[in-house]
Amino acid sequence: MKAAVVNEFNKKLEIQDVAMPDIGYGEILVKIHTCGVCHTDLHAAHGDWPVKPKMPLIPGHEGVGIVEQAGDGTGSIKVGDRVGIPWLYSACGECEYCLSGRETLCPEQLNAGYSIDGAYAEYCKAPAKYVAKVPEALSFEEAAPLFCAGVTTYKALKISEAIPGDWVAIYGIGGLGHVAVQYAKAMGLNVIAVDIKDEKLEMAKDLGADLTVNGLNTDPAKAIHEKVGGVQAAISVAVTKKAFEQAYSSVKRGGSLVVVGLPNDELPIPIFDTVLNGVSVKGSIVGTRKDLQECLELAAQGKIKTMIETKRLEDVNEVLDRLEKGDINGRIVLNIS
Ligand SMILES: [Zn+2]
Ligand SMILES: [Zn+2]
Repeated sequence: MKAAVVNEFNKKLEIQDVAMPDIGYGEILVKIHTCGVCHTDLHAAHGDWPVKPKMPLIPGHEGVGIVEQAGDGTGSIKVGDRVGIPWLYSACGECEYCLSGRETLCPEQLNAGYSIDGAYAEYCKAPAKYVAKVPEALSFEEAAPLFCAGVTTYKALKISEAIPGDWVAIYGIGGLGHVAVQYAKAMGLNVIAVDIKDEKLEMAKDLGADLTVNGLNTDPAKAIHEKVGGVQAAISVAVTKKAFEQAYSSVKRGGSLVVVGLPNDELPIPIFDTVLNGVSVKGSIVGTRKDLQECLELAAQGKIKTMIETKRLEDVNEVLDRLEKGDINGRIVLNIS
């Protein structure tokens, strides 16, 4: 089968003919139709993070396709089902995190397109228990970005504990941020979109943002305090340290900063302000299978529209270059078959 493969960090991905995966007990083989391109794939290809991916690696954790083979023990997932394979490829199912509805913290988890091969390929195998069925109302292209960008931002908003009527700020209106704006609106929140590119802010406005701030020439935290008195929650899906600092400073007393983007950097937090203002700082990584179902359902109801540009698998290097430059509005989805 054809796949885009990382053979060495910081080198271009190669389009190669690789062996088809063999499925075992509880596994399915999915013929991939589409796969979204996430910033994480760039980090994987560069070996940016302290925990390195497998090598060689087929990236991709927003793969959507049709089940072509199902072995024994695949439960309700049948041949012909339309499913997506998320970042949380599998978890142990029996540790304290798995048992308490926090499976994304499972120390034994595998991650699609990182610790195990993902969906930049014609086929991808997956454990049936951890894939999600795609609602009929969503096309292959629309559904793909929901498997990371969608569930990740939906979950971040959930753990922010902001309630209807609260103000939230979304820092970074890219693949994740443009979906975050819409989930926030669907959850009854007032949204401030922050980015350094006007065209991304325009898009945020079209998608429902109540206010926008360009952080390039303005201090967004100051602007947010002036306009609405600070936000109950700031969600940072940006990829620069500066945006995280600004996101922290835009939170009002008793509010929270939810850290989602993954620059390989540190976030210095002022202890005095954090204590006196009772600010919480929370990390949030993707979402559980339940979060994923909820996020797909909201999209199927027409409340979330992923902004998509489609490209071929062969274009993957060009797509990753553009992603690195911040030169993409919304999400690029690879059309694989
Ligand atoms: Zn992702
Ligand atoms: Zn576990």
